[in-house]
Amino acid sequence: MTGQLQHIGDDAPPRCVLCGKVAAGPCASCHRMVCGECSTLTEGSAQVWAICLDCDRRKGRSLAPAWFRLLAWLLVPLAVLAAATALVGWLASR
Ligand SMILES: [Zn+2]
Ligand SMILES: [Zn+2]
Repeated sequence: MTGQLQHIGDDAPPRCVLCGKVAAGPCASCHRMVCGECSTLTEGSAQVWAICLDCDRRKGRSLAPAWFRLLAWLLVPLAVLAAATALVGWLASR
């Protein structure tokens, strides 16, 4: 019976990947186990998800700023190209 004590490590509850405490549950985004202190609840959707602070920092609770940056990054060269094309067309038509 004493041998069972050596297997405690195998049956131990999962540990938080961020701080090493006993985890409360998996992150909804990256599925790593995190504790209550290292997770945050997402907002803005019908269902509330718990995500780890890593994912919260990386993605944020709102995707708007990153989405806007990507859009601007795509639209600025397009606008420049459109302006150059219009200028060439205007010059050619003269
Ligand atoms: Zn933690
Ligand atoms: Zn995560």
